Amino acid sequence: MRILIAEDDPSFRRLLAETLAIWGYDVVVADNGYSALQILQSEDPPRLAMLDWMMPGMEGVEVCRKVRQKMVEPYTYMVLLTSQQRDEDLVIGMEAGADDYITKPFKHNELRLRLRAGRRIIELQNELIEARDTFRTKASHDSLTGLWNHEEILRILAQELSRAEREEKSAGVIMADIDFFKKINDTYGHLAGDVVLRSAAGKMRSLMRTYDCIGRYGGEEFLVVLPECNLECAAAFAERLRLCVSSDSIDTPEGMIPVTISLGVAASSKDKKKDVNSLIKTADEALYRAKESGRNRVAVALAS
Ligand SMILES: [Mg+2]
Repeated sequence: MRILIAEDDPSFRRLLAETLAIWGYDVVVADNGYSALQILQSEDPPRLAMLDWMMPGMEGVEVCRKVRQKMVEPYTYMVLLTSQQRDEDLVIGMEAGADDYITKPFKHNELRLRLRAGRRIIELQNELIEARDTFRTKASHDSLTGLWNHEEILRILAQELSRAEREEKSAGVIMADIDFFKKINDTYGHLAGDVVLRSAAGKMRSLMRTYDCIGRYGGEEFLVVLPECNLECAAAFAERLRLCVSSDSIDTPEGMIPVTISLGVAASSKDKKKDVNSLIKTADEALYRAKESGRNRVAVALAS
C-alpha cells in the first residue's frame, strides 16, 4: 500500500521512509505541507498519510483540514506526527480531520500497529464502497440486458422532461418492441429468446449517443430517451434502430434467428409539453399502429 510521509526534517524523513519501505509500504515523500496537499489531492492519491504537524509553509493540521474539506472518496487515513503533548493541540488535530496522531519520538512497534489499524479501516472502506456500487448497479440495471431497468429509465425520463421544460427544449422517446417475440420463445426456447433480447439490446445501445438512454421497459419492450431531440429527429433515430437490429440475424445456440422490431415515436416540445405518462402513452399508441400496419416499421405520434 502506498503511504505519504510529509516531514521537513531530512534525517527523520529518511529514517521513516526506510523503515516503512522495510515494512512493505510503497513510500511517497514530501518535505513541506504544500506538496503534501498536492499529492493528497492528486488523481490517485496514497490512501495513508503521515503528516508532521510542524512544517514550514503549511502545517500538517492544515493539510488535514484542506483534504477533508474537498474529498469524501477515496478516504485518506491521516496520522499526525507531533512533538507537542498538550491536550488542546490534539483536539485541534482531530477536529481538523486527522484519524490518529503519534508523538515523536515513538517506538517502531507502536507506529507499525497504528498504521496497521489505518490500513484495516481503508480496506473496510474499500469493501463498503464496492458493496454499495454493486448494489446500486443491481438496483438500477436490468440483469439480462445490462440496460437501465424499468424504474430507472422512467426516473431518467422524468428528469429529462423537467430539464427540457426548464431549458425550453424538446425531448424524444421511442418505444421499441421485438416482433413476434413469443413465437421466437415458443420455437427456439427461452435460452435463445434471452440471447435475442441481449443481442437486440446491445445493437440498440451501440447506436446511442453518450447522452441518450435506453432501458428495458418490460418483457421485450425497450424505452429510449433522447434529450434535445424533436419528433423528426426521434423518428430518424428510430429508423436507424430498426435497421440496425434487423440488418443481421442473431446468432443463438439454436441457430441464426432473424429479428425485427417495431417502434413508436413521441416527443415533448416547448409548444406541446407532455408529462411522463402522456408521453409514454403516445409512444405506445404509435407502437401499436406500427404493429397493426405490419410490424418491422416506425410509427410516429399523430399530431394532437
Ligand atoms: Mg517538522
